[in-house]
Amino acid sequence: MSEAPKAAPAAPAATATPARRPAGRGRNLELPEHLKAYKGVWVFIEHDRGHVHSVSWELLGEARKLADKLGSGVGVVVLGGPDEALEKFAAEAFTYGADKAYIVHDPVLLGYRNEPFTKGLTDLVNKYQPEILLLGATSMGRDLAGSVATTLLTGLTADCTELNIDPTSRALAATRPTFGGSLLCTIMTLAYRPQMATVRPRVMAMPPADAGRGGEIVQETLGMVETQIVTKLLDFIADAHSQKINLPYADVIVSGGKGLKNPENFKLVFELARVLGGEVGATRPCVQAGWVEAERQVGQTGKTVRPKLYIAAGISGAIQHRVGMEASDVIVAINTDPNAPIFDFAHYGIVGNALQVLPALTQAFAQHLAQHRKLAA
Ligand code: FAD
Repeated sequence: MSEAPKAAPAAPAATATPARRPAGRGRNLELPEHLKAYKGVWVFIEHDRGHVHSVSWELLGEARKLADKLGSGVGVVVLGGPDEALEKFAAEAFTYGADKAYIVHDPVLLGYRNEPFTKGLTDLVNKYQPEILLLGATSMGRDLAGSVATTLLTGLTADCTELNIDPTSRALAATRPTFGGSLLCTIMTLAYRPQMATVRPRVMAMPPADAGRGGEIVQETLGMVETQIVTKLLDFIADAHSQKINLPYADVIVSGGKGLKNPENFKLVFELARVLGGEVGATRPCVQAGWVEAERQVGQTGKTVRPKLYIAAGISGAIQHRVGMEASDVIVAINTDPNAPIFDFAHYGIVGNALQVLPALTQAFAQHLAQHRKLAA
């Protein structure tokens, strides 16, 4: 793999010391002949109890753009149990840009387990040889991507924020934050195939669906029996608590930071979110201080969000927070410091005390919405 930080280029080597070897430290950076046959961009379709995770469609939008640049096609892999609606998921994938769907129905693929899913995906990759394989950076995607990359002996770039095709090498240029989010680095897998990457939900935009698009379905078999699998799926118990907080897909988010001073003041954030019908987010220090649940953290080590409206109260706008919310349609920042970094990228800024501005906004929105409802009745 070759790695190239985007910012702060390295200082030139001193003349007395021997010239530095290029990235890769002597490893082969040329694509071996037998791997040149790998073509096409694939997306692993993640589904659970009848629902496809939206990150799969978001990735399909990116896969389509990459394939168009490469002049190749888009494939999806749909693995599941005998009676699961995998063909329906494939049909939906075609509307989002897929050309082909590789489907495997098997009793051992009912409910995610690493071993059968790794075998299913790696067997398909070895047989059909895609050059790029994308998975969502979800719990399932992270687990599967790691074992598939290890089994295939190829490179995997996790938590990418941008995917592109390098014009010189035609390799996947996968960009992700590094050094605690202070640098963006672009990683390319030059000598191995497929090139693998994971992307977190909401990092990429949802592509438009084209209901008229169709594609080809290829049915395959797994060739694995239950006795070969160490992990047993006994039951599924949903985490009722975390299901309630759906930050990545919320349309309105009101987030609070350390500027709110204490957990009691954080209630002001909850009140405004309630009136707006939105979710509550927070910065990492607030989560670390135990003011709110970890599921509410927005940022590099929290959730990536893309709401229509993001209100940031008492948040400085550190890069690690910014990367998780800067794709929001409208960002409103409330901060006492006119020089706070958040004002550099917020669409609207209120220089003021959040402890006064938040209740004022809550009251104004409540009045406005009540009036609106009266007129609509
Ligand atoms: P502060 O930086 O302390 O800012 C508080 C702000 O409130 C200030 O701008 C201040 O002017 C303002 N303020 C003070 N009083 C008021 C008031 N009465 N009214 C209005 N404004 C007021 N952070 C995240 O959020 N998410 C992450 O995922 C994340 N991941 C990280 C990963 C790593 C590896 C590292 C090193 C850090 C990470 N951080 C993350 C932490 C990040 O660097 C910042 O420390 C954090 O985002 C700052 O949180 P804050 O804005 O709440 O607090």
